[in-house]
Amino acid sequence: MTCPDCHKGETRVIDSREDTQAIRRRRECMACQFRFTTFERIEVINLMVTKRDGTKEPFSKEKLMAGIRMASEKRPLVLEKLEEMVDQIERDLYSSCKNKVSSNQIGKMVLTHLKPLDPIAYLRFTSVYRSLSLEAFEEELNQILQEEESVKDG
Ligand SMILES: [Zn+2]
Repeated sequence: MTCPDCHKGETRVIDSREDTQAIRRRRECMACQFRFTTFERIEVINLMVTKRDGTKEPFSKEKLMAGIRMASEKRPLVLEKLEEMVDQIERDLYSSCKNKVSSNQIGKMVLTHLKPLDPIAYLRFTSVYRSLSLEAFEEELNQILQEEESVKDG
């Protein structure tokens, strides 16, 4: 790592501490003796997702993003907001320090974030993740539409 102060010197690690989520390293520049601290995130490489049918696959941020984008198609949602959301979910998943998660749990996390952003995208995602029956889907849709009406009336 290059020194952030003089941008020339190589740095050496003078102290290293590890907790469950990060490695804290005290570094010193070998050229100007500037000292600084870095926090390095510990990568949890083997986060496995258990799918509804019982099969497992490695967690894929890209796949999650693709699902969310599909649900938000033609909705007035900013891509950056969705990316922020996926980043947040990824952080929450990794900081929980588990090595497996069910697709259902991930779905619930997405729904929590998506509901306040866009009710329609939320519903589309709900129907996919909970495999809602058509009746349940319509019921929930009506509820959201009523909520929107009451906001307009009020
Ligand atoms: Zn330096």
